[in-house]
Amino acid sequence: KAGGRGTYRRFNAAMHAQLQAHQQMKLTMRDALARGQFELHYQPLVSLQTRHVTGCEALLRWRHPERGMIAPSEFIPIAEETGLIVPIGAWVLQQVCLQASSWPEHVSVAVNLSPVQFKHPKLVKAVADAISAARLNPARLQLEITESVLLDESEHNLELLQQLRELGVKIAMDDFGTGYSSLGYLRSFPFDKIKVDRTFVRDLPEGKESLAIVRAVAGLGQSLGMMTTVEGVETEDQLKTVNAEGFDEVQGYIFSRPLPASEISKLIADGPLRGED
Ligand code: C2E
Ligand code: MG
Ligand code: MG
Ligand code: MG
Repeated sequence: KAGGRGTYRRFNAAMHAQLQAHQQMKLTMRDALARGQFELHYQPLVSLQTRHVTGCEALLRWRHPERGMIAPSEFIPIAEETGLIVPIGAWVLQQVCLQASSWPEHVSVAVNLSPVQFKHPKLVKAVADAISAARLNPARLQLEITESVLLDESEHNLELLQQLRELGVKIAMDDFGTGYSSLGYLRSFPFDKIKVDRTFVRDLPEGKESLAIVRAVAGLGQSLGMMTTVEGVETEDQLKTVNAEGFDEVQGYIFSRPLPASEISKLIADGPLRGED
């Protein structure tokens, strides 16, 4: 009881600090793009058959002058709240297309789309502009969409996916298994790729339930003619397991963490990856 008020005060202070950080980020994010504080890191996707890099996923970071590197989980929700994700997302699309055009033709690039970007009427144009400005073969661009993007307005969403597809880009369902509309969407739209969320990989190979789910998704992808990717593979045992289940590609710390563009180009040039850190 005695500590009650103190605990409350501490709690209050912590909440206050958090709110302040949130407000501060909101304010400083407005100029962050113009000040060149955003950067993209790239994480390789590796073919299980050849061990070559088939593509890289672009992952956004904010190099904040006072706070250092900020992870997307911290600032993207705020960017979505303020709508800043739309210009930031357009910049990301431009950057990745330019970057990929410097890589060998067989290496693709994957970009994450926020639900807010997806709802924005200029999305198709932003994608088309980024591709043509970089003169990139559109088949080398993969748009990653999570289940949360597809929750509402299903007819409209299908139409939009179709329009994006007509640009010649590939469409991947990201973080598969974490939402709840995924199976229905797999039936109504032919995704090019399914990416299994890393929460299903964490407790492999021991986790029986995760293994069952991962196995089912591999089968689903094969029957539907979609590429299958697993994210978050960290250990040799996990790699063996997903390999045995017949997945096409792996993305995870076992091969590489996300790296700055300069380092990724070197990694691509170096050829097959072995899987040790
Ligand atoms: P995501 O699209 O599912 O990206 C994969 C996340 O898993 C990345 O986190 C990556 O660093 C992490 N990861 C990959 N392999 C491993 C592993 O072996 N172990 C562990 N522990 N983690 C691994 P990151 O970079 O923090 O990004 C988090 C999320 O932020 C992304 O999840 C994506 O939803 C979002 N995001 C990142 N960049 C962008 C962007 O440019 N636009 C939008 N709208 N969202 C983005
Ligand atoms: Mg992704
Ligand atoms: Mg993912
Ligand atoms: Mg994920």
